[in-house]
Amino acid sequence: MSSDSTSVEALAPGKVNLFFAVGGVRGDGYHPVASLYSAVSMYERVVLTPTQRRGITVSASIVEGSLLDQMAQAGEFDLSVVPLNNKNLAYKAAELLLLEQNLTVLDVSLDIHLVKAVPVAGGMGGGSADAAATLRAMNEYLVRAGLVDAPVAESRILEIAATLGADVPFACAGGLAVGMGVGDELTHVEAGGSEDSALNLVMVASTTGLSTPAVFAELDAGREQNTYPAPGQLSVPEELLEALTSTGAPIARLHEISRYLRNDLQQPALTLQPELAKTLGFQDAQIVASFVSGSGPTIALLMESEADAEALAKSLRRRGRYAVAVKTPAE
Ligand code: ATP
Repeated sequence: MSSDSTSVEALAPGKVNLFFAVGGVRGDGYHPVASLYSAVSMYERVVLTPTQRRGITVSASIVEGSLLDQMAQAGEFDLSVVPLNNKNLAYKAAELLLLEQNLTVLDVSLDIHLVKAVPVAGGMGGGSADAAATLRAMNEYLVRAGLVDAPVAESRILEIAATLGADVPFACAGGLAVGMGVGDELTHVEAGGSEDSALNLVMVASTTGLSTPAVFAELDAGREQNTYPAPGQLSVPEELLEALTSTGAPIARLHEISRYLRNDLQQPALTLQPELAKTLGFQDAQIVASFVSGSGPTIALLMESEADAEALAKSLRRRGRYAVAVKTPAE
């Protein structure tokens, strides 16, 4: 978080799920999950700036060179799909934080500017990251502006985050975490100590987004017809956590990790967007594994090294694809 005399800003990361087991749909429409969230080094930035008009406005721009920018430059993404009003998750986050402090949007005159890098409706939790960064920035702003005496405690921020969406608490926390419940009951996992232990991914975006509820609905319908396996036990395998926290030989460790990667939403996402199979099936000697990120359609390619990830991302971009190298877990 940083700020000058007029504005306050905060970052929050996009994510992949290294493991995502989805249980049967509950009576309330939600799905219990066992998720292993891992933040990626692709950040949404939120800047709060005082304005002359009472209330909150939302504006947005795109980080130059980001995955989103690559698509926008090619005319395949338009920021107009992001609602710049009270439907935006960042606006809702600001409203809830104000409410927690017994204030309303009319007690502030602010623009929430979203500097977006994460693909929209891409399964990487971009909107959730905007909400998380807004909670943090707003919490700081209200104290700095003298509107409240004390910030909302971090534990309460996580509770408010959970009411905004299942992925928002993790976007507040970052790093690596097991998410139970609907993904919001987090247990932090300490990743293998050194800087080198982070995984290198190439994230490949798709020009058509996927609606998260539609992917879950496809999973439910397919399970009823036995097209997809029935929900198994909802837990993240210890072997995966051990492999991630180990400091073993780099390539052997990556292969061990890849044995346990799982995403129950991958097949439903592929049914809805069959062309994703092509990206998942990319052949490159340095690709250790490929998987759909969350509800898709963004695909993660697990690479042997940072240099391999950079080289593949570059070569994919030359071939007209939208690709970027990232590290995970990131803070
Ligand atoms: P998840 O990974 O949690 O499924 P996602 O990253 O796939 O989410 P988002 O980018 O968060 O999806 O946005 C999904 C939809 O939500 C968008 O199509 C848009 O209409 C709406 N939306 C609301 N707030 C935002 C926001 N701050 N940024 C982007 N989209 C938003």
